[in-house]
Amino acid sequence: MEKLSVWAARQPNTIGKQATLQGWIRTRRDSKGGFSFLELNDGSCLANIQIVADAKLSNYDSEVKHLTAGCSVTVRGEVKPSGGKEQATELHASEVIVHGLADPEAYPLQKKRHTLEKLREWAHLRPRTNTMGAVMRVRNRICRSIHDFFQEEGFLYVHTPIITASDCEGAGEMFRVTTIDLANPPKTADGKVDYAQDFFGKPAYLTVSGQLEGEIYATALGKIYTFGPTFRAENSNTSRHLAEFWMIEPEAAFFDLDDDMALAERFLKRIVRDVLADCQEDMAFFQERIDSTIMAALETVRDRDFLRLSYTEAVEILENSGEKFEFPVKWGSDLQAEHERYLTEKKFNAPVILHDYPRGIKAFYMRLNDDGKTVRAMDVLVPRVGEIIGGSQREERLNVLIERMKEQHLNPDDYWWYLDLRRFGTAPHAGFGLGLERMVQFVTGMANIRDVIPFPRTPGSAEF
Ligand code: ATP
Ligand code: MG
Ligand code: MG
Ligand code: MG
Repeated sequence: MEKLSVWAARQPNTIGKQATLQGWIRTRRDSKGGFSFLELNDGSCLANIQIVADAKLSNYDSEVKHLTAGCSVTVRGEVKPSGGKEQATELHASEVIVHGLADPEAYPLQKKRHTLEKLREWAHLRPRTNTMGAVMRVRNRICRSIHDFFQEEGFLYVHTPIITASDCEGAGEMFRVTTIDLANPPKTADGKVDYAQDFFGKPAYLTVSGQLEGEIYATALGKIYTFGPTFRAENSNTSRHLAEFWMIEPEAAFFDLDDDMALAERFLKRIVRDVLADCQEDMAFFQERIDSTIMAALETVRDRDFLRLSYTEAVEILENSGEKFEFPVKWGSDLQAEHERYLTEKKFNAPVILHDYPRGIKAFYMRLNDDGKTVRAMDVLVPRVGEIIGGSQREERLNVLIERMKEQHLNPDDYWWYLDLRRFGTAPHAGFGLGLERMVQFVTGMANIRDVIPFPRTPGSAEF
């Protein structure tokens, strides 16, 4: 007998087949006619399949009649057309094998709907809810789309290190990795623990970005991308920051900022197109239950050109907006979430790419413009989430790069290998980073980043 997923068994072309289905019961309803309806879910799709379990089953009275939400079963039977409006098929069981019961007194996922906050306390059970199931299927589709896009565009998938010595963003948000025996630590001259010897005698951290290492491979192999876990020791409790998140970072030689922005736009459009085409059932769920504007917003991203504005133009728009911002905008300071929201939600109701930021607020590696004041940086901002991508054309001129490092109090000797890329056959190049979770948030409409990753790591929450 063929094993089918619930998704497959729900397709009309399975009618008449003998099939084996396996999963978890969502509900049981007993009919007066001497049979029960079981709603079975196996995670393959949002919907359940209805199982018709007849009282003639040998274990009907002893087991089937007592099944409750959360019980795991194997069901064999024939797929038949269903009379119900919601589904084309149902399974008429000839055998029900019960694997595990779930005590209804103790199992928390009963009919009652829980808040997303509450569900975070059950990180081990929440994937069994409709919301988390839908999030995880969409997240998976996005990941596949990411690889498909870059592979089709000729980018090579490169794995950059998780343990590294370079603080790419210079923001001091790195987690230290240590092998030091704290009972007997190496000491500095003034008697303090010598953390510079963290990793068998050298300093080491968890990566905050694979960019610098990505540049090494881009300036040899042309076009590369990384896709891996990223760590930032940010003690911030916002709805869009995690201490551990996943980042996709393409890097391409002989790319300038315009190429970079065009790549970012094609990339986001591609992800949205794939999700809208392949996750219709889950997206309808998000539209209905989470955010009724989500489909319209995604169609805009898919169909309309992204707006491009220089940082300077954006600051002018914000200054003339008549809005009362908590943080007033001033040329030279970073935009806050409220400013990003104004631009993407109130003003344009669409994604916006901002480019050419003041040098003072961006990292040392971004290419300095001829005006001496701005660098070739870009951020892609989207409604509700704000910054989703940060990127730039990189500084390829050795002397300018060294200047910029000194300006930001970095020691060029620490970056000797990075400077070598400019010493030997330097080439213009550019890249960006997309936060996977922010993308999943944007696509699903989920308000909190903690609800789009299986195991969120935020200050004070690392139980699982
Ligand atoms: P933000 O301004 O929101 O703090 P950032 O400018 O520090 O972000 P970048 O260093 O530009 O972030 O990283 C590239 C992308 O990685 C961001 O555009 C965002 O999508 C994502 N990202 C950055 N920090 C986090 C975080 N703590 N949690 C989840 N995603 C993040
Ligand atoms: Mg940040
Ligand atoms: Mg930022
Ligand atoms: Mg950024």
